[in-house]
Amino acid sequence: MVHKHGIEAAVDRSLCVGSGPCFVLAARAFQLDDDMKAVVLDTSTESEESLLSAAQECPTQAIYLALGGKGVYPCSETSAPLQREQERAASTDHQTRPRGFRHA
Ligand code: SF4
Repeated sequence: MVHKHGIEAAVDRSLCVGSGPCFVLAARAFQLDDDMKAVVLDTSTESEESLLSAAQECPTQAIYLALGGKGVYPCSETSAPLQREQERAASTDHQTRPRGFRHA
C-alpha cells in the first residue's frame, strides 16, 4: 500500500547513464525516455521506501528527493538541485518525455 507522502523527485540528466535500477525499484515513478535517460513520472504512486531505494541505488547519484521544499536525499540541507532540475525539465519538455509518449 502506498501512503501519501508528498515526496518529489528529479533526475539530473547530465549524470544519468540509463542503467537503472531506478525504473526497476520504482517503476511507476521513473522511466527511461527516448534518449535513454530517466524521467520522473508520478512519485505519489510509489512508497517512500521505493523512492529512497531508487535514489540510493542510482550508480551516479543522479536522483534528488525532497519533501515540503526540503531536500531529503542526497542532501538534507536544500532542495535546490531538485528545483533546478524541475525548472530545466519544464523548459525542455520535449527531451524529457517517457519512451513511447506521443502528443495526441
Ligand atoms: S538509476 Fe540513476 S543512472 Fe540509472 S537510469 Fe536511474 S537515474 Fe539514471
